[in-house]
Amino acid sequence: MPYVPGANTHGVVHVDDVFHSPNVYANFVPIALWQDPAGNDAFTMAAITGPHFATDAATIEVDGEEDEVVVTKNQQAIVAAGTVTQAELNAGNGAATTATNVSTTPGTPAAGDVSGTATVGGVVDDTLLYTSPSGALYYVKTVTKQPGVVFPYDVATLAVPNGTTVQDVCDNLGLLVKNCFDPIKIQYPKAFMTCSFRNGKPGGTSQHPKGMACDIQFNGTSKAEYFNIAKWIRDTSGIAYDQLLLEYKTTGTGNPWIHISFNKAGNRGQVFTFMNDKNCKGPGVVGLYDLSNS
Ligand SMILES: [Zn+2]
Repeated sequence: MPYVPGANTHGVVHVDDVFHSPNVYANFVPIALWQDPAGNDAFTMAAITGPHFATDAATIEVDGEEDEVVVTKNQQAIVAAGTVTQAELNAGNGAATTATNVSTTPGTPAAGDVSGTATVGGVVDDTLLYTSPSGALYYVKTVTKQPGVVFPYDVATLAVPNGTTVQDVCDNLGLLVKNCFDPIKIQYPKAFMTCSFRNGKPGGTSQHPKGMACDIQFNGTSKAEYFNIAKWIRDTSGIAYDQLLLEYKTTGTGNPWIHISFNKAGNRGQVFTFMNDKNCKGPGVVGLYDLSNS
């Protein structure tokens, strides 16, 4: 039961995207919203019912940023703008000293599967990035705009202003899904992507603007479980990644997320834990810290 893009499918033009059941039609237009909880379409259907994080819209922009000066500058800006309060940010101070669990096992550099490039079509959003062994289909729009992607950005118009190309962003997104997101989705079906490609900020080092990184949350999953999921990715999964970040916040919803990136030029296997966009133990300190109690 794959995701079905609307235009020019089944001989029908100008149909909105649907989750297709071959047995239910109205006037020859597929209308079914049947969902197999274990099926391929559960990926996006789960995302539709996922939580939303409007108040994090500004703060999430700086995640994964290793430059503390840049992070501090951005945080001062969002406090000044009233997006978060200084008290909310301060609530995370010292969280690492009371971590419920600490695991500083190093990550492992790994090349991953760098094969394959995207065949970019006239409508960039309809470009197929990857077909999962589970049968799930990932399009550009699946990872940049579908419901559950809380922070939608348009690859077609924003790739070049971010110093890259549509082709390179699509290639990077495809490798990210193949090597990182899809294996996590297979292990944890409740996983959904909140953001992948997005605009960068001047002076930032984020891999999101290159399509090399995504942020992942999990429906119906406790804060504490994020630590275990991150450990699984690092220690057990065999997933190749450049950076694996376990990220916590005391602002907005306070829900954690996992940031993961893939670099076809080489993956460093770096593992950090962030609280309110800063490394929880200071710049450069590696490891996983369970800060779910903060
Ligand atoms: Zn991220």
